[in-house]
Amino acid sequence: MSFLSKRYRDQKDMNKGRQAEDSKSEAGVNVFLSRALHHLANIQDELHMFYCLPKREVRVQLVLDSNDKMKVFEGFRVQHNNALGPYKGGLRYHPTASMQHFRTMASLMTWKCALVGIPFGGAKGGIACDPKALTAEELETLTKKYVEQMMPIIGPKIDVPAPDMGTNAQVMAWVYEEYSKMHGDEPAVVTGKPLELSGSFGRESATGNGVAYIAKWATEASELSLSNAKIVIQGFGNVGQFAAKKLVELGAQVVAISDSSGGVYSSSGLNVEKLLEFKNYEKGSLNEWDGECEKITNEDLMQLECDLLVPAALGNVITDINANAIKAKMIVEGANDPISAEAQDFLESKGVVIIPDILANAGGVLVSYFEWAQNLQHFQWNVEKVEENFREMLKKAWKETAEKHRSLKVNYRTAAYCIALERVHKASQLRGYHG
Ligand code: NAD
Repeated sequence: MSFLSKRYRDQKDMNKGRQAEDSKSEAGVNVFLSRALHHLANIQDELHMFYCLPKREVRVQLVLDSNDKMKVFEGFRVQHNNALGPYKGGLRYHPTASMQHFRTMASLMTWKCALVGIPFGGAKGGIACDPKALTAEELETLTKKYVEQMMPIIGPKIDVPAPDMGTNAQVMAWVYEEYSKMHGDEPAVVTGKPLELSGSFGRESATGNGVAYIAKWATEASELSLSNAKIVIQGFGNVGQFAAKKLVELGAQVVAISDSSGGVYSSSGLNVEKLLEFKNYEKGSLNEWDGECEKITNEDLMQLECDLLVPAALGNVITDINANAIKAKMIVEGANDPISAEAQDFLESKGVVIIPDILANAGGVLVSYFEWAQNLQHFQWNVEKVEENFREMLKKAWKETAEKHRSLKVNYRTAAYCIALERVHKASQLRGYHG
């Protein structure tokens, strides 16, 4: 008989499987990075290690004591690189969260911030927990304990968290409150806060809207058109919902969408407004939706014939295992790290155009930057100013990536990494991080 608790054993088993996947995905990001290094003659190969290894990793134990029942959790924060400014990156609450997973995510944040031209480095963190299985009170306590433990390594000029999977504006409000207890009122410690609590207009919709705008510009640059394009979206949370709404506004047809319960499909296009109402006000899971549609699994959804596929849920969902079943003409990465390096190579050999996460989902961190800048000035921009700056900066990042893609004759991902790497490298040199 084992002396280890069942939850501990379950968690360890899950971590083992997850770590094998995570190390593949960590390798994936580093493969993409080394491909970019290869194209930049002025950046020596030896620096690969410098940009692969995060600067700092912190793991903490978090204990909840509710109704005399103790629950133990692990919290993580990985700070990858801060050459361009304070570390920046989301907080994810998910049962499979692990240090290895956050290493990949933190690295992506470094390149994403550099690509869109904002003065931040890259970080990521969170708690290995199922937020749906916790009460609001437990979630608040857990979040505040996480902040208490991470207090020495976060701050408006050090590391600025934001929402990610399993967290939202309410969680960010708790982060703000806990940090301010020790430091005085400091809204700039975290972004993605509620509008009433020094949040920014446009933050909630930013990532999804950004995905849709990038999809529009990318289709215009290829033989596709967004007008009447058939779109398939995996994930119906923050990113998936706003992307679906904006894509429909831009003239596309969302034919399939899913959440963790499964998906819905209609060849003539789904009623996205009704699905949003059902999900957000009736709190339904998509597999309970009784509108006109066909019920499909997440696996089926990935294999649908469509113009655009938008993964907007978990990472590592397109790998060498299912790549040959993908029938999309273009993939716009709403999620972070959804495609493995092998799968990307295979899909591109078949002519599929892939728009990388560090560009496609950068809208969120862009408005997070606006929120941080507003908080430092204790001033709130209006919606128009947010929207104008948002479109302008995102379009600039798109144009620069497209230009690099043409001039170097590389795919969009390598082009995006080349731009980001040049910027981070220049800043590192100027600071004297390396020779
Ligand atoms: P969210 O928690 O709001 O929504 C996640 C969605 O994915 C939910 O609909 C959930 O049901 C679904 N899902 C979970 N497991 C699934 C599975 N196995 N199969 C299918 N669907 C599943 O999260 P989010 O903020 O929308 O983030 C989604 C992705 O976008 C993540 O990869 C995240 O890192 C990335 N991202 C988010 C932001 C942001 O601002 N929120 C910014 C950049 C990137």
